[in-house]
Amino acid sequence: MANSYDVIVIGAGPAGYVGAIRCAQLGMSVAVIDEYRRKDGEAALGGTCLNVGCIPSKALLDSSEHYHRVQSELAGHGIRVEGTTLDVPQMIKRKDKVVADLTGGIKQLFKANRIEWLQGHGKLLAERQVEFTPHKGKAKTLTTDNVILATGSRPIEIGAAPLDGDRIVDSAGAQEFQEVPKRLGVIGAGVIGLEMGSVWNRLGSKVVLLEAQEEFLSPVDQQVSREARKLFEKQGLDIKLGCRVTGTRKGKTVSVHYEDSEGKQNLQVDRLIVSVGRRPNTDGLSSEDADLLTDERGYVHVNDYCETNIPGVYAVGDVVRGPMLAHKGSEEGVMVAERIAGHAGHVNYETIPWVIYTDPEIAWVGRTESQLKAAGTPYRSGTFGFAATGRARAMDRADGMVKIIAHAETDRILGVHMVGPQTSELIAEATLAMEYEASAEDLARTIHAHPTLSEAVHEAALAVGKRAIHKAN
Ligand code: FAD
Ligand code: NAD
Repeated sequence: MANSYDVIVIGAGPAGYVGAIRCAQLGMSVAVIDEYRRKDGEAALGGTCLNVGCIPSKALLDSSEHYHRVQSELAGHGIRVEGTTLDVPQMIKRKDKVVADLTGGIKQLFKANRIEWLQGHGKLLAERQVEFTPHKGKAKTLTTDNVILATGSRPIEIGAAPLDGDRIVDSAGAQEFQEVPKRLGVIGAGVIGLEMGSVWNRLGSKVVLLEAQEEFLSPVDQQVSREARKLFEKQGLDIKLGCRVTGTRKGKTVSVHYEDSEGKQNLQVDRLIVSVGRRPNTDGLSSEDADLLTDERGYVHVNDYCETNIPGVYAVGDVVRGPMLAHKGSEEGVMVAERIAGHAGHVNYETIPWVIYTDPEIAWVGRTESQLKAAGTPYRSGTFGFAATGRARAMDRADGMVKIIAHAETDRILGVHMVGPQTSELIAEATLAMEYEASAEDLARTIHAHPTLSEAVHEAALAVGKRAIHKAN
C-alpha cells in the first residue's frame, strides 16, 4: 500500500467504484477504501447495490416471476407443467452466485485499472488526509489531492418495529428467507416494499403492506400509480394506506399494532419487513476538525458538481441530495472524476429515470402532471394502453399504459410515465428524447418497429396531438 494517491475514494458502491474507474482511466493513481463484508465475513466490492440491493432483489424478482408464470400463466399458452416444486434455498443460492460473480467482476476491473482496494474503514481528516483502519490491523494516515466520499446509505429503523434479523428484518433480511412465510407484513409501501412484497407474494405469501401516507406511491404520476395499485391488488397484494404503526410484539408470530382511519388495528404475520426509507452513512465519516458540512438529515452538503464545502473533497451517490439510485450515483462519480481531471463533466438531474421492478414495471422520467400543475406550467398529455398493441397482446401482457406530457406551447417533452411490460427498457427511449430536448412531435415522427412494445410509446406521442392511430382520440 502506498502512502499517497491522486484520489482516495471512500465507499465502493456504484457511485464510488464507477468514479474510481473513471479517475484511473484519466491517468490518476486511485485507492478505494470500503468496509463492506458479506455474511461469510469476506470483503466484497459493489456496495449496497451489488451485494444487498439492486442486483440480488432483481435476481429474486426474476426467479419468483418464473415460478409464478409456471404456476398460473403457462397453461394459457397450452403448456402444461405438472409437479412443480419450489426450492427456496436454491433460489437464494442462485441469487448469491449472481452477486458473487458481479462483485468478482468489479475486483477484476480494479486490477485492470490498477486501483488499490483497501478493506476497512475510511475517515476524512483535516487537510485532505484520510485515516484508513483495516479490518485487521492498525489505522494509517494517507495523503491525497482529492477525496471522493461515496459511503452510501442504510435502512431507516423505527422504534415501533425494532429489527431482530429473524422475524423483523430490513431489505437485506428480506432477501434471505429460507422458506416462504405464510403471512408477510411490510411496513412502507414504497419501492422496496413493493418489490420485496411482490417476490414473496408470487411465491405464495399472503402479503399486507402498511403505508403511512394516504396517497399510494406519491412520487409517481397519479394516473399511473392508480392503475398500478389496481393491478397489484388483483395479484393479491393487500395495500393499506394511512396506517400508523404503533408497536410490535413477538411470540411465535409477530403481532403488528397500527392505527388507521377506523381506529386501532392488529395484524398477525410470520415475518415483517421494515422498508420505510434509507438514511445517509455519515456517522464517523469525518473528524471534527475536517469541518465537513452536513445537513440536518445527515447528507453531505454539495453543490450541483458534488463539491463539498472543502476544496478537493467531493461527495456522490446516496450520501448526498437527490434520488437514491445507483445510476444517479454512478453518473455523479463520472462527473467528479472528469472535473478533477479538468474536463467539463456534468449530470442532468432533470433526466434521471426511475424504475420500480414490479410486474408490471413502473418507469418514469421527468415531471409528473401534479408537479406541472403546481408549477403552473401549461401542458398537453397523450396516453396509450398496451392492450391496443399487438405485441403486448401476443405476449399476454396487455396491462398498463404509457403517458407522455409535453409543454402546451413548445411541445417539448416534460415527462414520460409508464406502467406495463418491460417499461424498464422502454424508458430509455424517453430518457434519450428528453436528454436531446425532443418534442412529442419528434417521437411521433420516429419510426418504431412493428410489432413491439415501443409502439405504445410512439402512439402516446401521437396521442399528445390527438392523432393516435389505434385509439379513438
Ligand atoms: P452504496 O451502494 O451504499 O455503497 C457505499 C459503500 O460504502 C458500502 O459498501 C459501504 O459499506 C461503504 N462504506 C460506508 N461507510 C464507509 C466508511 N466510512 N469507510 C469505508 N467504507 C464505507 N437503485 C437502483 O438504481 N435500481 C435498483 O433496482 C435498486 N434496487 C435496490 C434494492 C434494494 C433492496 C436497495 C436497498 C436499494 C436499491 N437501489 C436501487 C438503491 C441503490 O442500491 C443505491 O442507490 C446505491 O447502492 C447507492 O450507491 P452508493 O455508491 O452511493 O452507495
Ligand atoms: P421509499 O421512500 O421508496 O418508501 C418508503 C415508504 O415508507 C414511503 O411510502 C413512506 O411513506 C413509508 N413510510 C415511512 N415511514 C413509515 C412508517 N413509520 N410506517 C409506514 N410507512 C412509512 O423507501 P424504500 O422503499 O425503503 O427504499 C429506499 C430507497 O432505495 C428508495 O427510495 C430508492 O431510492 C432506493 N431503491 C430503489 C429501487 C429501484 O430503483 N427499483 C429499489 C429499491 C430501493
